[in-house]
Amino acid sequence: MAHPPVAHPPSAPPPIAHPIAGAAPRLFGDHFLAALDPDERGLIERLRALCRSSFGPQAAAVARQDVFAWETFRMLAHEGIVATAFPRDCGGTDARQALRIRIIEELGRVCSTSASIITGTDLSSRAIVAGASAELRQAIVPRLCTGEQQAAFALTEPGAGSDVRGLQTLMRRQGGAYIVNGRKKFITRASTADWFVVVGKIEDEPANFVAVLIHRDAPGLGISPEVGKLGWFGVPISSLRFENVQVSAGHRLGAEGEGFSLAQDALLRARIGHAAMALGRAIGAVEIAATYATDREVFGKALGEHQGVQWMLADMVTQIEASRALLALTADKYDRGDADTAIFASMAKLQATDLCMKVVTDALQLTGGRGYLQDFPLERFFRDAKLNQIGEGASEVHKTVIGRDLVRRARQAERNPCLREGSLADY
Ligand SMILES: Cc1cc2nc3c(=O)[nH]c(=O)nc-3n(C[C@H](O)[C@H](O)[C@H](O)COP(=O)(O)OP(=O)(O)OC[C@H]3O[C@@H](n4cnc5c(N)ncnc54)[C@H](O)[C@@H]3O)c2cc1C
Repeated sequence: MAHPPVAHPPSAPPPIAHPIAGAAPRLFGDHFLAALDPDERGLIERLRALCRSSFGPQAAAVARQDVFAWETFRMLAHEGIVATAFPRDCGGTDARQALRIRIIEELGRVCSTSASIITGTDLSSRAIVAGASAELRQAIVPRLCTGEQQAAFALTEPGAGSDVRGLQTLMRRQGGAYIVNGRKKFITRASTADWFVVVGKIEDEPANFVAVLIHRDAPGLGISPEVGKLGWFGVPISSLRFENVQVSAGHRLGAEGEGFSLAQDALLRARIGHAAMALGRAIGAVEIAATYATDREVFGKALGEHQGVQWMLADMVTQIEASRALLALTADKYDRGDADTAIFASMAKLQATDLCMKVVTDALQLTGGRGYLQDFPLERFFRDAKLNQIGEGASEVHKTVIGRDLVRRARQAERNPCLREGSLADY
């Protein structure tokens, strides 16, 4: 006997229609969209349409040379995607991380430039949103939200990358201002940013971290020409030099001593973004490899009918879905304000970015010589994948953070009931 149809309870969101009526189902399931409300799903549907019409087809041209992708940036701003990073009182839509990871994954699937513009917005603007005075916030954040202006995040220095506590940029108090001296390296969007979030220390107070907001025209600020790099084209980097740059105390973000935590707050969101971008790229790589495996015949049958190829694809899809689940959990933790969100963000970033590098490498292998051609998207995916393992904390740094936390918790955690009382050293 057929089961009667199951009625959805009134509070349940309506079933998800396919974004484009009649379109083929996607290779990777839309299961995570069920957690979004109808407005949020509508945004994803519009974004998918843009990926099909613009971001996907234009990605290769955007990534041909490393100049700022103005057209992509303006489109993301015009469509309200940039605004998802900003609070409502400044004109933004204050999107949950549960939605932001879906946005960034969609973009990362086709175009790392557009995805990195969105994660970079979190990185560069978060300290302004969280730490600027009400007056400064209202003067600047609405313009960042519309894309009229841009900010850059200047933390890394020649002598302080993974170990950011070693910053050498010094700020000297002088009347109602700070005098800033130092150097910053690898600063994304430095050539186009109107504002720089600069993190340094108060002179002679090595534990007193301070973040300030400096305008690009400030006397004494030098911005180097753009520096060539392997991938992530469309979002160039430069170095900065500060020589007696004067910043009014009103442009300090947060209180003195809060510079490090403001930077960590921005990095937390950006790490979640890196994980989503990496998973989007991994999904795109599998889609491309799987299409090749159906189109290409070798030894008398489709490439995808060979068991060895199926096993490679099976490993990719299984690990990607597991990683997506970890990231979705992390986003929920962020949205709830759970105390362990930062550790989960480290795990999600570590897992997703290392996985992406492996998946893109294997997908390129599966597409043979074509995968190695500049004309084929996987060459770009391959070059872009590497930075996700380095930026916003290298994989090894995240492993250190996660391992240290585990060992600390092990001291207080419930003992496994299989164990005898006393020290295990006495077994
Ligand atoms: C394209 C690009 C864009 C960037 N954008 C920005 C930006 O906008 N703003 C900004 O402030 N910075 C930016 N960065 C800097 C980036 O965050 C740093 O490169 C990154 O944090 C690593 O620092 P580092 O390069 O100095 O590497 P190092 O600190 O020299 O580390 C080198 C390597 O050592 C290993 N390692 C480090 N610590 C440990 C450890 N404890 N145990 C084991 N191994 C370890 C890791 O493999 C690491 O990759 C950008 C970098 C690039 C390449």
